Parts: sequence; structure tokens; C-alpha cells
Amino acid sequence: MTVSPNPEGQSRLIEEIIDKGICVRCGACVGLCPYFHFFDGKVVVMDRCDADTWNCLQLCPRANPEGDILNESGGIGSYKTVTMARATDKEIRETSQYGGTVSSIIISGLQSDQIGSAVLTDRGGATSPEGRLARNRKDVLDCAGSRYSASGSLSILNGCIKDGEDRIAMVGVPCQMEALARMRELMPDGEERYGRVSLKIGLFCTWALDYRQLDAFLKKEGVKDPVNKFDIPPPPSEVFRVQTQGKWRDFPLSQIRPFVQKGCSFCQDMTAQEADLSVGTVEGIEGWNTVVLRTDKGAEIFNEAIEEGWLETQAFPEDNLEHLKEAAQNKRERGKKSIIKGVRGQAWE
Ligand SMILES: Cc1cc2nc3c(=O)[nH]c(=O)nc-3n(C[C@H](O)[C@H](O)[C@H](O)COP(=O)(O)OP(=O)(O)OC[C@H]3O[C@@H](n4cnc5c(N)ncnc54)[C@H](O)[C@@H]3O)c2cc1C
Repeated sequence: MTVSPNPEGQSRLIEEIIDKGICVRCGACVGLCPYFHFFDGKVVVMDRCDADTWNCLQLCPRANPEGDILNESGGIGSYKTVTMARATDKEIRETSQYGGTVSSIIISGLQSDQIGSAVLTDRGGATSPEGRLARNRKDVLDCAGSRYSASGSLSILNGCIKDGEDRIAMVGVPCQMEALARMRELMPDGEERYGRVSLKIGLFCTWALDYRQLDAFLKKEGVKDPVNKFDIPPPPSEVFRVQTQGKWRDFPLSQIRPFVQKGCSFCQDMTAQEADLSVGTVEGIEGWNTVVLRTDKGAEIFNEAIEEGWLETQAFPEDNLEHLKEAAQNKRERGKKSIIKGVRGQAWE
């Protein structure tokens, strides 16, 4: 990724990103200074700051439309191989979102000591999902499954780096992987701080929902019990599924789409190109994950999870790969169009 420092500060971040409602709540700006906090699904500003470090603006994936994650060679960016994988462990498979590949890799890495801890996203409860530092199998399983709203979990990464944590795995959506790359490249001590992240697992993502709007909608629809699981089955299903007490309720996606975070419309990355490996669903094949291996580190830890018996794999169907590339390219085009349309106004100038 090629990035250039942006010589502006907190006031621009507030005016152009937070006040315009296009913050994607990745959490990159939280935990670096006392002025930002993540509260119930949103980044809130505690006070104005006139420091001349400007980290917050430079790191923001929405404040930097030129932040060239765009590898024009293909919709899913550069990769070594794409394969299908799923957990061999029954409990992981039952608890996780699809095939449990992400949870298996983290558990495998913790047990072999390749990683010391992992920044994951919890399930939320009375408030929105949030980042959580996982150190063992139980922690990982407590966080398994997808919450389709932002968790600000980079704030937990910032905090644990401050506390001296090392060999950290970070699991996150594409904007979080981009912010992490920016942090490492642009902060004066970026290499020293974010070099402590030894594994980046990216999740495929088309969009995330505004937690507070989703929560209000579900309450209005009578969903009062804690949600065990959410799911958005691949097209053409067009439903958003919510499971409480073992029972699924389906809502038409058209009812949910209005809650998509405004900032997601500018995103051009569906498959988390800045990650070491990226994981998503496999369209048309239930219970398996698509795995895009991108770096030596990603391939090494993935292969180790197979060798240690945590994962099984199958060849990825050629048709699925073509379709994945097309879907990722479509997201790029949509993001580019939104940027060109200048919906964000001055932020792009
Ligand atoms: C907002 C969002 C949108 C997504 N959109 C798509 C999509 O369009 N297409 C697709 O193929 N896949 C999408 N995914 C990824 C998919 O839902 C699964 O996370 C992925 O396939 C891994 O499955 P698994 O069975 O290995 O997961 P698991 O083993 O259950 O692990 C899932 C991991 O995701 C983490 N997590 C959960 N919620 C969040 C969150 N909000 N932010 C950051 N991390 C989180 C958990 O900490 C957990 O470690 C999306 C995920 C999210 C969070």
C-alpha cells in the first residue's frame, strides 16, 4: 500500500468523517489519545485536541480515499492460492459462523504458541459488539460467529500494544486491515508498535450495519431475547437471519439495507486485501469457508493448522473463483463511483 502523510488534524476528522456520518467505526483512532472512545457502536469525541501529531486523520480509512489499496490486477487483490476449508472440531463448527476456519486458525496458533493473543469481536449484549483480547480456546469460542455491525476492535489492539502485548493476531473487516496497514506505515513508531501484530486475518465484507439502528429495528419487531447468531445467506436469498433461543427469524434484506453504514458505500475492498489471509463464505456450499492465502505468514499458519489436525481443505471450484473476483470487482466499481460522485463533499478535495 502506498500512502502519504496527511498534515491535518482532529478537527478535520470530526468535521469531515464523524459529523458527516461516514465513520466506519473501525476503532483505529481510539486508544491512541484520550479524546476518542468507542461507545455502543459509535466513535465518540470526548474533547477537542490541537496536538500536531494528526495520527487520527492519517490512519482513518475513510479520510484517505487515495489510500491506494487498489491493486488493479484483480478484484480480490494479490494472492498465492484460494482454497476451501473448515474446522475438524465439532464444537468449533457448531459455534462458528460457517466452517469455523477463523476460530480454528486462532486456536491452533495459540496452542502452538505462534501467537500469544488475538484481538477478536465479542457478541455484544446490552450494548454493541466490541473488541476483546482472546488468550485461549474458551475466549475464541465466546467470540465465534459474525456480528454484522462494527465493533471498533482496533481500539483493543491499540490498548494491548500499549500494555506491551506481543505476537498478536488481529481479526477484522477490510477497513480495519487497511487502517492497520496505514498505522504501521505512517506512524513514526508504526513499525515498532504494529510490527507486534504477527498475523492479520481479514474477513470478507460487503457492508456493516449501524448497530443502534439495527438494535432499535429488532426491538420494534419484537426481538427481545439476546441474539445467538446472525446470518446473511448468499444471493439470491435476500434475507437477514436472526437466531434467538435456537429459533430463526428472517427479515427481507430490503428492510435491513437502510441501516448499512453510510461510510461503507466508499469502500472498494470486499476481501481484505491487506490481510495475511482472508476468509469468507463459499457460495452454494454450506459449512465451508473460502480462504485467500496472501502472504508467507498467512500460508504458514494456515498450513500449520492443517498439519495439527484443526482444519480440512478441498479444492476451490473454478466457477466460484471467477464469481468471487467479479463480486469483488463490482464492489470496487461501486466504491469508486461513490467517491467520484463526491457524496462526501470536501473530504475528497
Ligand atoms: C460485518 C461483516 C460483513 C461480512 N460480509 C461478508 C460477505 O459479504 N461475504 C462473505 O463471504 N463473508 C462476509 N463476512 C464474513 C463471514 O461472516 C465470516 O466471518 C467468515 O466467513 C469467517 O467464517 P468462520 O466460520 O471462519 O468464522 P468464525 O470461526 O465464527 O470466526 C468469525 C470471527 O469474526 C470475528 N467477528 C465477528 N463479528 C465481527 C465484526 N463485526 N468485526 C470484526 N470481526 C468480527 C469474530 O471475532 C470471530 O473471530 C462478513 C463478516 C462481517 C463481520
